[in-house]
Amino acid sequence: TSRVPLRSLSPDELASFLAHQQQAYADLQARGLKLDLTRGKPAPDQLDLSAALLDLPTTTLDRSGADVRNYGGLEGLPELREIFAELLGVEAAQVLCGGNSSLTMMHQVLTFLLLWGGPGSERAWKDEPVIKFVCPVPGYDRHFSMLADLGIEMLTVPMNADGPDVDAVAALVADDPAVKGMWVVPTYANPTGSVVSPEVARALMAMPTAAPDFRIFWDNAYALHHLTDDEVASADALGLAAAAGNPDRPVLFASTSKITWAGAGVAVMASSEATKAWFLKHLSMASIGPDKVNHLRHVELFGDAEGVRAHMRRHRELIAPKFAAVDAALTAGLEGLEIAEWTRPTGGYFVNLDVLDDTASRVVALAKEAGIALTPAGASFPHGQDPRDRNIRLAPTFPPLDQVEAAMAGVATCVALAAAEHLTAG
Ligand code: PMP
Repeated sequence: TSRVPLRSLSPDELASFLAHQQQAYADLQARGLKLDLTRGKPAPDQLDLSAALLDLPTTTLDRSGADVRNYGGLEGLPELREIFAELLGVEAAQVLCGGNSSLTMMHQVLTFLLLWGGPGSERAWKDEPVIKFVCPVPGYDRHFSMLADLGIEMLTVPMNADGPDVDAVAALVADDPAVKGMWVVPTYANPTGSVVSPEVARALMAMPTAAPDFRIFWDNAYALHHLTDDEVASADALGLAAAAGNPDRPVLFASTSKITWAGAGVAVMASSEATKAWFLKHLSMASIGPDKVNHLRHVELFGDAEGVRAHMRRHRELIAPKFAAVDAALTAGLEGLEIAEWTRPTGGYFVNLDVLDDTASRVVALAKEAGIALTPAGASFPHGQDPRDRNIRLAPTFPPLDQVEAAMAGVATCVALAAAEHLTAG
């Protein structure tokens, strides 16, 4: 297309562009769509890739001969811990397999720190006058709502293509002992798709912090969720932290929520052995052991780490076309207008769309009136507040491909209409 930037149009040209978009929007509304791009969920055909789980396990005994139907084994099935150790590039001794949600494990680590403090703490975090976390933005909404719910203050830093802005992070943590932790989604971040580079990871693990018990919640939810042949390896957080003399700083999380079944998978945590012992000590007050039947059926489904990687390539075949459709629709509708930028992620579950400042809420409202549900504007920021009102998270995995195409063509119309209205008014 030979479009020119919207800002370069004369008032008459802008008025004609606006009228054109208003007509396109009226046509869109007339179609009576009912489409939903709100949450990053696997589609039914992705869940079907793990259909064999319903008939597994074929035995009730684990490798050591223990009966998985019974109590015990709080740190999870050793054979599953070994598979995850290889996939995450850590030692099996550092890994713990739990229930079906890594978010629950993050919540447990955080509440245990609040109630008792952890390795290196001077006191329980609840006894500090105030606790603050560094939050790269845009980020995962549930990370932020968890902190808000627990009364933890949030300090934002920019999320760049190679991870959190390390200079901004280092400045926040250097002198203020109330800054106790931060979130990092190191691989194919939600929603930007950023991948933390080894240099950024090294800096985060080595930076001086005023708090002696500073924790990095290293949420590797998308570690294996590649969309291209470039199957990037996550930075070695535990190794880098240990080498820098901060072995307890990172706590790693992952799960099979978007590998097998989001509601019935297995969550994983990896940490220093001191942190793992601390966590198990408190966890043992709450549980006699995890669902080892589910652990064993996951072991049988995959066999080994390569089995997981092969499985992820089948997911890629199903969802990569949906990501391509998002890019195609945005390119067709918006290329050259200079009113939007979007990511072309090489993995993960989201596309990050930045529209003209002060128009994201309007775009989401327009889409809603046309029957297209989008994640609320601002959702990727603490307290749902995007200071520039420009960020929209798109989640294309769940709807069928034709619905992704229809919804994204509609979104492009809404973005163009909101921009034209804004520039006309301004
Ligand atoms: N972390 C991130 C970054 C996510 O995007 C999600 C799912 N949307 C989760 C964690 C949730 O993980 P789980 O299903 O293991 O609780």
